[in-house]
Amino acid sequence: MLTPASHTNPGLEADGTASSVQVAPQRDPLCPFPADVIAVEPEAPSVSTFRLEFQDPARREQYRLQPGQFNMIYVPGVGEVPISVSGAPGEGPGIAHTIRFVGRVTHVLASAAPGTVLGLRGPYGRGWPIDRARGRDVLLVAGGLGLAPLRPAVRALLSDRAQFGRLTLLYGARQPSDLLFSREYAEWERLGMEVLITVDRGDAAWRGRVGVVPVLFNRLLIEPARTVVLTCGPEILMRLTVTEAQNRNILDQDIYYSLERNMNCAVGLCGHCQLGPAFICKNGPVFSHQELAPFFRQDML
Ligand SMILES: Cc1cc2nc3c(=O)[nH]c(=O)nc-3n(C[C@H](O)[C@H](O)[C@H](O)COP(=O)(O)OP(=O)(O)OC[C@H]3O[C@@H](n4cnc5c(N)ncnc54)[C@H](O)[C@@H]3O)c2cc1C
Repeated sequence: MLTPASHTNPGLEADGTASSVQVAPQRDPLCPFPADVIAVEPEAPSVSTFRLEFQDPARREQYRLQPGQFNMIYVPGVGEVPISVSGAPGEGPGIAHTIRFVGRVTHVLASAAPGTVLGLRGPYGRGWPIDRARGRDVLLVAGGLGLAPLRPAVRALLSDRAQFGRLTLLYGARQPSDLLFSREYAEWERLGMEVLITVDRGDAAWRGRVGVVPVLFNRLLIEPARTVVLTCGPEILMRLTVTEAQNRNILDQDIYYSLERNMNCAVGLCGHCQLGPAFICKNGPVFSHQELAPFFRQDML
């Protein structure tokens, strides 16, 4: 599957006989491109960041990312999984993916060292509405691994800091060792983002806040008409974030979340990730609550 599809189609005449016309080779859009693992950085128990680089220099050159988009990573002979890009363009070598080892494919990825060849295709989907947030306050709310797809948004906001109003990140994890990218918080604060961290359970060394993320809303002064909310994490966290934001009169059209669903193709063909009229892979994974609220049952997000 790692070999690029390359074939000619002889074409057919109107009477069904084969013509001599050569049609340009069509590449199967679901066929991944070979990519090298160039670095692996442990982040937390069972979570590492893998930097992948396309082997083909032209593909490296063509790759353009919007914060919040995802790639499909293929482990030869095992399977393919959707993974958000966790790094901003130019922020480091290769394309960063922060992965929790939970099942069949990701457990195999856990042992991928630099030099391993994987398959990679993407980027896919619609990312965070960075342009729509220009001139406004941006409140990012993340839980656990949910900071991974938000990290490129953090970078994009901070690299164009003067274009935005107040920037605030509320982030929490179960325990201190689960906090992702903790070595970067001080830099994010220095560049102009308020960073409020909490954990569900502290440990002997923890001196920070203890409690769930939505409680941090009580520490904020929010101007609802100016505020755009971007949230990602466990669905319970996103649901509570929507409620906290609505309670502060932030409009559904200004509340965005990134959804995860089982998906196979990533291009809107297989239908696995359909929610109402939307394909999470193609129309999302980022949606405003205004777009999706009618399609959630009350006990869902
Ligand atoms: C758009 C998108 C972005 C994602 N970004 C990341 C990321 O940045 N980092 C990361 O670690 N994971 C991410 N995921 C989730 C990741 O794709 C799944 O963890 C992975 O597919 C599991 O594959 P597996 O073969 O290892 O596990 P499996 O053996 O397939 O499953 C193990 C367990 O995980 C559940 N599961 C599988 N796929 C999903 C899924 N898509 N959503 C929720 N539960 C699932 C299964 O139901 C099962 O309980 C993302 C998913 C989507 C749809």
